[in-house]
Amino acid sequence: MTADIATLAEVSEGFETAPVSSVVKWARDEFGDEIVLAASFQDCVLIDVATRVFPDVEVVFLDTQYHFAETLEYVETVRERYDLNLSIMKPLIEPDDLWKTDVDACCGARKIQPLRRALQGKRAWMTGLRRSEAATRATAPIVGWDQGQGLVKVNPIANWTDQEVEDYARDRELPEHPLASQSYASIGCWPCTRPVGDGEDARAGRWAGTNKIECGLHG
Ligand code: SF4
Repeated sequence: MTADIATLAEVSEGFETAPVSSVVKWARDEFGDEIVLAASFQDCVLIDVATRVFPDVEVVFLDTQYHFAETLEYVETVRERYDLNLSIMKPLIEPDDLWKTDVDACCGARKIQPLRRALQGKRAWMTGLRRSEAATRATAPIVGWDQGQGLVKVNPIANWTDQEVEDYARDRELPEHPLASQSYASIGCWPCTRPVGDGEDARAGRWAGTNKIECGLHG
């Protein structure tokens, strides 16, 4: 895979100053229906970006069974607006109390395993991951090899700032997640998400009070 990794790095570098639509077009032409877009539905910026050039891209939502009712409502709003080719992946277990005692195991069963199933048979996945979201994401390429999944990972908006996301959402008049206006800067499952205070990092509201900062989906 070494040569391919080098090629992906070159491709990624070339996209640093290219329009975002060219990243999605490349992904569409390269992978066709062997790529899926994993969406957290905190907003629909990546979905809007992607469907403008790749309207039937398969979008995957991981229904952990612990989403806010507002998130599930928002999924339906966005599904309708874009007539999305949406796959909803559920965990193979019933709701339980694992999040109270072992958040890593809970994310494993409710996010990581369902994503693995969604990515089976695919060659690539696309995400809305951005460098400015967290220190753990600061060096994310636009296109790279995801060692953990054994797939190409495409992050079309990796180099977008928070301001660029905000401007894009406003200019495109995108529907907003109902909790976004209530200080929920990063929205995941209800047991592990709280609103953030002024000046707090957006992801400070995720797994607050623990050392956990990533669910494991992004390596
Ligand atoms: S974010 Fe919390 S509730 Fe959701 S899967 Fe992870 S540990 Fe479980």
